[in-house]
Amino acid sequence: MSQVFHRHCHTPLRTAVRGEGVYLFDQHNNAYLDACGGAAVSCLGHNHPGVRQAINTQVEQLAYAHSGFFTSEACEQLAEQLAAKAPGDLNHVYLVSGGSEAVESALKLARQYFVEIDQPQRVHFISRRQSYHGNTLGALGVGGNLWRRAPFDPILTSAEHIAACYAYRDKHAGETDYQYGQRVANELEQKLLELGPENVAAFIAEPVVGATAGAVPAVEGYFTRIREICDQYGLLLILDEVMCGIGRTGTLFAQEQEQIQADIVTVAKGLGAGYQPIGAMIASSRLYNAVANGSGFFQHGHTYMGHATASAAALAVLQAFEQDQLLAQVRRQGQGLAERLNQRFASHPRIGDIRGRGLFMGLELVQDRDSKLPFAPHTALAARIKQTAMDNGLMCYPMGGTIDGVQGHHVLLAPPYIISDNQLDELVDKLSLSLNQVFHSMAK
Ligand code: PLP
Repeated sequence: MSQVFHRHCHTPLRTAVRGEGVYLFDQHNNAYLDACGGAAVSCLGHNHPGVRQAINTQVEQLAYAHSGFFTSEACEQLAEQLAAKAPGDLNHVYLVSGGSEAVESALKLARQYFVEIDQPQRVHFISRRQSYHGNTLGALGVGGNLWRRAPFDPILTSAEHIAACYAYRDKHAGETDYQYGQRVANELEQKLLELGPENVAAFIAEPVVGATAGAVPAVEGYFTRIREICDQYGLLLILDEVMCGIGRTGTLFAQEQEQIQADIVTVAKGLGAGYQPIGAMIASSRLYNAVANGSGFFQHGHTYMGHATASAAALAVLQAFEQDQLLAQVRRQGQGLAERLNQRFASHPRIGDIRGRGLFMGLELVQDRDSKLPFAPHTALAARIKQTAMDNGLMCYPMGGTIDGVQGHHVLLAPPYIISDNQLDELVDKLSLSLNQVFHSMAK
């Protein structure tokens, strides 16, 4: 019996022993095409020589120096690059070890900002029903996927939730995309008026919803209206790009495609590309200055923040983006993936929707395309697809979640940015085979 406390106590795992490009290999040398980057992490694929080299060089010089005593060149350079590339005045980079830490940092900065500017009553957060922002208690508290937090209620921080922007499920008949986006964005204003806008610190959302919905982008105009409402009522906009950021959707930050700027953005996953655990909370100058010119101390921290080796790895990741023009590659291969998925699945009786941006695509699985009837939770559809796909040498990311009270299933695809045309063909072939095997076995 394994002494590792695995999350799924009764599901035996294969042992990964090596990685090469878009493939992982197990102890029997079986190859798995990594079509989801783990959880949208491995954006450069596995065993990238540049990142490997950067880590080795950094470890030989300086692996770690505690951020209470020292900064490091790697950490300074990474912050400089992220600040230069982030939209507008998102200039102040707080480096942590992952997505949940980045979100916790964002929530705490939002709260402290209002204390610094003498509005301490702004304590509430608003988020969307179909969202995931991490697993630590604060991040879990703002997440909208209620089944994840059920065992921990009453939770420390609890957000008020409004509708997700999820046209496939919620758009009314006769409504244009734009009208739909305005209607659901205006739910933020209604919620603010209910809570008293002077009591709300921030609205948090993923620009493209990842794990809880399967790559759902907002419709045009939605985020512009959200930004407008935040400005009008003086609350902060936190955009959680932990999954959809760092090039995944074809631009370094997903919000670039919405033509808006957050007050705080969180990134992680692709930033370390799986080579090191790292995340960042990037704050606007207004927020940073309020702390710097106020108490002068952000009341938050983690032992591994500003980690030199993790920063060196992330710098090498960003360098690979430039050298190999990977953002253009994401847009090109993303289009190739979308075309292949549409060719293969557009009329599949169990696939209701194909959506996403760049190399971040989702397939929504339904019992019936006309009624959009989701599969019931007891079908364990996600677990079956994951297992079958692994048996076929494919890693994909199927999930079942609650969507405004409706249980839905989807498959998330987030392959490495270096994926070739042939590998895209292989991905879609293996996915098609796996889905058909699962649906066939369920029909028996
Ligand atoms: N935010 C979003 C949007 C995520 O998708 C995730 C993880 O899936 C997190 C936060 C939490 O990140 P981590 O698992 O690195 O703590």
